[in-house]
Amino acid sequence: MSAQSARLPARDFEEIRLAEALERGRCPICDARQESSFAALRGLAREGATDRGLRAEMDKGLSFCQPHSVGLSKMELQQTSSQLATAVLLDAVLRRRLATLKKLSSSDAGTQGRGLAEIADPKCPVCAGAAEASRTAVNRLLALSTDSAWSSALGAGEICLSDLLALWAAAAGGPRDSQARWSGILAAQLGRLEVLQKTLAEYAHNSTVDRRHLITSEQQEAGAASIRLFGGTPDRDRNR
Ligand SMILES: [Zn+2]
Ligand SMILES: [Zn+2]
Repeated sequence: MSAQSARLPARDFEEIRLAEALERGRCPICDARQESSFAALRGLAREGATDRGLRAEMDKGLSFCQPHSVGLSKMELQQTSSQLATAVLLDAVLRRRLATLKKLSSSDAGTQGRGLAEIADPKCPVCAGAAEASRTAVNRLLALSTDSAWSSALGAGEICLSDLLALWAAAAGGPRDSQARWSGILAAQLGRLEVLQKTLAEYAHNSTVDRRHLITSEQQEAGAASIRLFGGTPDRDRNR
């Protein structure tokens, strides 16, 4: 968490959320994705079973990925103490899937291969929404980096590796002034990762039984930070 990001200028709700994430030491893009998934799952749990538009999309092959199938059932359980809406939705998915699989099973091997490749993508609407939220957050953050407070907060912020690369790719594909702003942020981020790597190496060096008493809290925190770097910011508790 960086002290200089404590007062980021924000003009709307979206910017307030991005600022809050940075101020709390969270990856703002992971946060945007999680917020989107949470809202989508909550909506599905409440109204998905009676949503005609959704049912029509399901007839065209829309399904749920593994994490969001589980996510939907957990969300519904949490909100209504039942999993009936989940059952209604999964029944609709299964019915459609079963028809496709039966048809596929009686076709030739080449058609089966192509068909299987096609249905491997569950066309999960929650994933699609999260990907869109991710792109929006990336573009918004790059636009906000014209402000020096945002630029330094992005340089010091705990952005996960995957989203750092997404920001980098978007900046590299953007206009020249955006590329120039990004190079400053990137240099600061690489500096942050260098410090993290050194501390992590010290932690790893102290992992043997005879050296464990030498582990510092800073080294321990580097271990946790490295998991967040590769695994993304953990989902925050949302009790709304
Ligand atoms: Zn992230
Ligand atoms: Zn999904």
